[in-house]
Amino acid sequence: MRKLVAGNWKMNGTSADLPQLNALADQHGDASVDVVICGPATLLSRMADTGLSIGGEDCHPSSSGAYTGDISAAMIADTGATYVITGHSERRTDHNEDDALIASKATAGWNAGLHVIICIGESEAQYRAGETLDILRAQMDQSIPDAATAETTTIAYEPIWAIGTGLTPTAEEISAVHAALRVHLEARFGAEGSAMRLLYGGSVKASNADEIFALANVDGALVGGASLKATDFSPIITALEASA
Ligand code: PEP
Repeated sequence: MRKLVAGNWKMNGTSADLPQLNALADQHGDASVDVVICGPATLLSRMADTGLSIGGEDCHPSSSGAYTGDISAAMIADTGATYVITGHSERRTDHNEDDALIASKATAGWNAGLHVIICIGESEAQYRAGETLDILRAQMDQSIPDAATAETTTIAYEPIWAIGTGLTPTAEEISAVHAALRVHLEARFGAEGSAMRLLYGGSVKASNADEIFALANVDGALVGGASLKATDFSPIITALEASA
């Protein structure tokens, strides 16, 4: 399995930010790990021109139709992108997306030939109540379609309370969660579940990347804020390469 570090630019980025990607492509074009930047739909074509692997941040479950303002997976693929994120907690929370919708978006991504990163994660209240594993197992059961394979699918564990806050679970907590997620994936998908990449996401930065990437069953990271600037993202890529 090749490890993966994926950036998520969210609703950030205009033409003025494209040189960040050129810098990354220059420094990491031949990386020994997969490097992907998921960006806003407005930039995807030009992001793809840099030669980096590019992804959408979300897609509609239908391939086309009367859905004003939405973007289909086929449209994302048409830009030259090869990945798409589904189920990010900001989509689940801000747009009331449920697991069934996220599963249908994952299927739409596969149908368009995209590799799909499916996000799961517990809220702070659920974490404090000790419900993390129950929540994550339920999200996996319902938002990962049966047809998922290691080649088409990556799972990103992102505790909601760690996203953009500077907080992270302890190394022991990440380890325990990822071990439990691996067991759950293997129980359902067998060998495909063993090979499916499990990313950690939530306040990953250069200063904590080494510790997180050293953990068993952490096959890379989904990175928000620290993916916006090449000088912040580059050391995270280097840390993942060193752990691979
Ligand atoms: C994210 O939004 O997927 C994320 C992990 O954000 P950050 O790295 O900024 O916490």
